[in-house]
Amino acid sequence: MKNWTKKFRIPPGKRIRLEDWPTAGGDGMEKSEARRRLEIIGPQMADWQHRLYAEQRRAVLVVLQAMDAGGKDGVIRRVFTFLNPQGCRVTSFKTPTPSELAHDFLWRIHQAVPARGEVGVFNRSHYEDVLIVRVQNLVRQKVWEQRYDQINDFERMLTENGTAIFKFILHISREEQRQRLEERLRDPSKHWKADPADARERECWDDYIAAYEDAIERCGTPWAPWHVIPADRKWFRDLAIAEIFLEGLRSLRPQYPPPKVDLSKIVIR
Ligand code: ATP
Ligand code: MG
Repeated sequence: MKNWTKKFRIPPGKRIRLEDWPTAGGDGMEKSEARRRLEIIGPQMADWQHRLYAEQRRAVLVVLQAMDAGGKDGVIRRVFTFLNPQGCRVTSFKTPTPSELAHDFLWRIHQAVPARGEVGVFNRSHYEDVLIVRVQNLVRQKVWEQRYDQINDFERMLTENGTAIFKFILHISREEQRQRLEERLRDPSKHWKADPADARERECWDDYIAAYEDAIERCGTPWAPWHVIPADRKWFRDLAIAEIFLEGLRSLRPQYPPPKVDLSKIVIR
């Protein structure tokens, strides 16, 4: 498949119905083929990351959002481990601490954005402040309503300062989520992930879908576009994100910088 970005990128400001958006991509593709392809493009991701790192001019920010059990951890483990850890930083955003809550909602986010030369991966992000915060009424509507514009301004400021932003929603079906949450109860190696909050949040599925649709429409911008990835099949999800990340990184054309000094003057004895 070609043009992964085009296929899954949502045009700025477009409203989509997530219900109509596929959750099970990969028709016509075999799992083994997808895994093989990932092994080929993983090192290419690392190669371009190396140039980004050497160049020290721009940064790349990847935002991962999903319903519970949507596969954010899996994507980080399967896709972003191809990168050199020296230039890659993953940040997981949990329930804000009292100190975080004492600041504006973007305060903790800004501290975690990647430095020049780095790739930053957000496992959850500032979008929680218009998702769970909205669904669970953690602040007044007037407050979360303002956040869409505030997020757009913040993301535009980041891109104007050299940070390219790629946002992903891992889109799973309600049935797939049920199976994954049940698996957390069944499989001892997943018990540590089981959380009563997951069952509670699941009850609010429709409210979350509405909140996601608004975030896609109101915060899909030319400078920080959303990609909605069919995520029921893990192998397809991983490949799609790797391909889109690679296409995005490549399009920045990071270059090895010229030498800082006159190399002919350096004598190695
Ligand atoms: P997993 O999917 O593997 O369970 P997780 O990302 O859900 O991982 P948890 O520690 O289980 O990690 O959950 C973090 C919780 O913190 C989520 O329920 C998320 O919605 C919540 N959270 C994150 N940011 C905010 C925020 N700004 N305000 C309120 N809750 C938040
Ligand atoms: Mg959780």
